[in-house]
Amino acid sequence: MKKEEQISGECCWCKQPLSATIYGIGSSYSETIPSSETFHEIPLPKSGRSIYGAILNKRSQAFTEGFHLMFATCSEICTQQLNKALTLERSRFQKRTPMNVDT
Ligand SMILES: [Zn+2]
Repeated sequence: MKKEEQISGECCWCKQPLSATIYGIGSSYSETIPSSETFHEIPLPKSGRSIYGAILNKRSQAFTEGFHLMFATCSEICTQQLNKALTLERSRFQKRTPMNVDT
């Protein structure tokens, strides 16, 4: 399996496979994202781990509203833990919104 397929199918927080309902957080990101990437790996030193965010389409409504990345999670619990981790590093993730998707 390609690395990106693997990343797109798993919870960015606990790495378990995603189910039909994907929970997530859309977030702004203050640092540069390489335009060649579809997923961007972001170290979270205060939480001692790194996570992958899906880079949102630059022409999408969410992107124009200032949300650059979506972090997909498997559950409300992971979303809460992720949100706490992002809050610890809020200078890089100032703007956040829930983004739940039914697939
Ligand atoms: Zn999870």
